Amino acid sequence: MNLSSGVSYLAIPGPSVMPERVLMAMHRSAPNIYEGELVNMVPDIVDRLKQVARTQHDVAIYIANGHGAWEAAISNTLSAGERAVALATGTFAHGWSEVAQRMGVETEVLDFGQRNAVDSERLVERLRKDRDHEIKAILAVHTDTSTGIRNDIEAIRSAIDDAGHPALLMVDCMASLGCDRFEMDAWGVDVMVAGSQKGLMTPPGLGFVYFNGKASQARNGADLVTYYWDWRTRVVPEVFYQYFAGTAPVHHLYGLREALLMIEEEGLENIWARHTAVAEAVWAAFDHWGQEGSLEVNAPDHSIRSHSVTALLTGSEKATALREWCESRAGLTLGIGLGMADKSAPEWHHFFRLGHMGHVNAQMILGALATVEAGLKAVDLPHCPGGALKASELIAARA
Ligand SMILES: *Cc1c(COP(=O)(O)O)cnc(C)c1O
Repeated sequence: MNLSSGVSYLAIPGPSVMPERVLMAMHRSAPNIYEGELVNMVPDIVDRLKQVARTQHDVAIYIANGHGAWEAAISNTLSAGERAVALATGTFAHGWSEVAQRMGVETEVLDFGQRNAVDSERLVERLRKDRDHEIKAILAVHTDTSTGIRNDIEAIRSAIDDAGHPALLMVDCMASLGCDRFEMDAWGVDVMVAGSQKGLMTPPGLGFVYFNGKASQARNGADLVTYYWDWRTRVVPEVFYQYFAGTAPVHHLYGLREALLMIEEEGLENIWARHTAVAEAVWAAFDHWGQEGSLEVNAPDHSIRSHSVTALLTGSEKATALREWCESRAGLTLGIGLGMADKSAPEWHHFFRLGHMGHVNAQMILGALATVEAGLKAVDLPHCPGGALKASELIAARA
């Protein structure tokens, strides 16, 4: 029997669930792109984007996905042959590092494995060895979406300061902005990259690069910068089209404006608290199920778990069957186990992820978790029954 008709939940870690309000705001014919409402509303969008990142500094908007934002950040700050160090706790730091390398940057990866956060001691050690300050940038990922590991950005900042090193701190907040606490200015982040399609609840297609004064100075010496990626004209445009180096992404801007309004209405602190409660419900369920069999949350320690995505290890090849059951029988789409194994290897089927970022509330997550529990039973994946009840008890205690 198929029970999937009805409202489905795309519980992959991006693109996230798009609110009806955002979709409705986009549903219009294009306005004049030279004057009028569109031109007038962009400065306000820019201000709100800064508030979400807790910064007074600048943000450039690109028509791009996260990979584009990565490239934009590198091109404005570095020159060919300069060195950058990526701090890897999953796939995404490797990805950013590869982008930089292909642009001509000498990259080096400090790898902390897939189940640990960045060890700041190791970073201090590496930076102290760099007496001539050849390292120009540290590429960090706040939440690695492949492993569900959340790194302590303040501790990484302190490590750089303890080593007395001048490298720029560049942070990927693609999966954490609008979900987990992030304080760009208070934490001393020089460059931050994000995208529209995760915590910001807007369709994929906009990339954001935030930068402070120190990064702005680096821009003056960077030889990788090109016309399209140049952030300078995008933040102080002489004419409107320079915000986007061409035609504005009209519909995305209407959607984003609505999403930012929703964020203001709920309040950033409340949004972080909601993500925390929803994540804790997810952990309560999985930690309970994991008491029997070999199902477990990838990040062992609660303090390094992301509040927007959870990566799961099943210890068997049944993760794919579980995902297929949840999607085809019950209308719940779970994420694949990105970066944990090669797609052709049997281990590929050991992993899955649950996205709980952006427009997600208690009833959605309880529905998703009860559905996962039904799926665990249906595909006969060994577990301790009752995890969905644990999640509902947690929600009752928090709400
Ligand atoms: C999604 C994501 C990206 C890449 O974004 P794309 O839009 O797929 O290019 C980069 N870093 C992190 C941490 C992400 O979650």
